[in-house]
Amino acid sequence: MQQELRNDFSQAATHDLAEDSLFATVTRVDHDVNDLIDALALLGVKRCSQCRKFFRCADPGALFDGGQLVCYACIPDWWPSISMRLGVEEREKIEGKLASWLRKHHRAEVIKVTPGSVPDTSNAEFQIAAKCVECAGSGKLMEGERCRFCNGLGAVRIVVPK
Ligand SMILES: [Zn+2]
Ligand SMILES: [Zn+2]
Repeated sequence: MQQELRNDFSQAATHDLAEDSLFATVTRVDHDVNDLIDALALLGVKRCSQCRKFFRCADPGALFDGGQLVCYACIPDWWPSISMRLGVEEREKIEGKLASWLRKHHRAEVIKVTPGSVPDTSNAEFQIAAKCVECAGSGKLMEGERCRFCNGLGAVRIVVPK
């Protein structure tokens, strides 16, 4: 009985040891990978947080920094899912940054929304809704007149052409 107990105990201990060393190995590999990613960042290569692909930072249109780095190809899926989870303030901040990034690097255009009409999206790669920067989303210009940049709606569409 005594012997059995001791056997059980030592088996459990061996098991724990194996698990510990496996854990240590995984942790070390993890550190190594992180070190490599840091080294790549020094070389000007960064990774998309969604598809895990690497991109050159020298190309400013490759990765968008919206709190996490996201490559252009991942934006149409990433933005709708992340924007739902953000608070209004945070969402508007990133939305504005994304809108200007798309305009600067991907020929995106600001399109007015016309109430009652269905927008033509056949030529759009994708689009996002954004606050009108001209009237800061109020729909009104300084003198109280209707904002002509957004038809007084306070919102526009940022359309990326195909
Ligand atoms: Zn990506
Ligand atoms: Zn406006």
